[in-house]
Amino acid sequence: MADAAEVDRAVERARAAFPAWRAVAPGDRARLLRRFARIVDEHAEELARLEITGAGHTAGNARWEAGNVRDVLDFYAGAPERDHGRQIPVPGGVDVTFAEPLGVVGIIVPWNFPMVIMTWGVAPALAAGNTVIVKPAEWTPLTALRLAELALEAGLPEGVLQVVPGEGEVAGARLVEHPDVRKIVFTGSTEVGKLIGAKAAEQVKRVTLELGGKSANIVFADSDLARAAESAPMAVFDNSGQDCCARSRILVQRSVHDEFLARLTEAVREVKVGDPGDPASQMGPLISAEHRERVASFVTEADVYARGSCPSGPGYWFPPTVLAGSSSESFRRAFTEEIFGPVVAVVPFEDEADAVRIANDTAYGLSGSIWTRDVGRALRVARAVEAGNLSVNSHSSVRYWTPFGGFKQSGLGRELGPDALSAFTETKNVFISTE
Ligand code: NAD
Repeated sequence: MADAAEVDRAVERARAAFPAWRAVAPGDRARLLRRFARIVDEHAEELARLEITGAGHTAGNARWEAGNVRDVLDFYAGAPERDHGRQIPVPGGVDVTFAEPLGVVGIIVPWNFPMVIMTWGVAPALAAGNTVIVKPAEWTPLTALRLAELALEAGLPEGVLQVVPGEGEVAGARLVEHPDVRKIVFTGSTEVGKLIGAKAAEQVKRVTLELGGKSANIVFADSDLARAAESAPMAVFDNSGQDCCARSRILVQRSVHDEFLARLTEAVREVKVGDPGDPASQMGPLISAEHRERVASFVTEADVYARGSCPSGPGYWFPPTVLAGSSSESFRRAFTEEIFGPVVAVVPFEDEADAVRIANDTAYGLSGSIWTRDVGRALRVARAVEAGNLSVNSHSSVRYWTPFGGFKQSGLGRELGPDALSAFTETKNVFISTE
């Protein structure tokens, strides 16, 4: 657990490594990142095991995550050679722009998807020529530490990618306030994100913020109701609901509300909750006893419509839970606040306008799903919902080819996609007189 002095030493190493790293020719930087991706692939099973052990991820998820780390590194390995500036026609000379790296970048990571969230920042930051310090979450440092070792094995120079485990308020805070850290990428709670944004503003430090969510899954009467109901549980219970994109509010058109709830109940009872190391498990435990207590505080028995099952032995188990048919104060709280656990709240809506009104009645705006067979309605609602990542007749949120991030209090800036390097570079304009 690094203290502030240790963070300062890491920043000094990162600063010292920066000039040589930014000077590595784009093709050579690309080769190093590709080699890093290949070594991650060779260690995919080991990384997955670490995430199962350290974070309780299911084997299926953890293997996908190790593959995602490899793919994101591979994708951004293609970026240094394509990081073009522009040539702009001006009178009296030639005008060109350069995408300059920022310097030292700090990446502060939450515990819910440790290795993938780290990599969504690390890969484009390194590709753009920055040096990086990662501060993993207190509970889940293992995959971050192993990835930093693998980076060295791949030939990345010392000091280019460092991992400094430590407490948020100590090591994380020091990264945010250190004047030589030029950018912070923070993924975590909206509460801490606001603090970091305010602190960074004192130095006009660049920030990308990926914060909380309370995303809506909107089901219209004309949808394929069977598919909508079958897919709804894992759209919120995946990773035990510890997912910023969890579709934790389900809005169902009133005419099919009861039928949907009956189908949803059936689907929820089939979710296999168990030992995360067992490949058949769809859902594992929660991260900690403390977090389980927090999740439980949102569930009042009278609001519970249906429940799945979970093991009763050791482990921070919580059953998939559906809240519906209530207008109590406790239901209202569960419907509006981010629970970050396997709890979903269902409400009816009347028409399209009502659905959009309810969906937008939140400070968050991260993701959401729309189920309808009417393509016009799908597009109208997708344009009207204030969220950064929407899917129609699907629950996909994060694909590394496409931009990811939140509206409103779900964040600031975007990660991933074709433009990710622009979050790790400054545009420099240079005019050369021909006179
Ligand atoms: P958190 O805000 O408690 O902690 C996140 C990270 O910030 C940790 O590494 C922590 O040590 C550090 N931290 C805490 N206080 C700090 C401070 N004062 N200064 C600097 N760093 C500090 O969040 P969490 O509980 O780890 O994660 C859950 C939250 O993350 C949820 O709200 C979830 O929605 C959000 N999240 C968002 C996204 C997204 O992409 N939008 C993705 C995953 C998780």
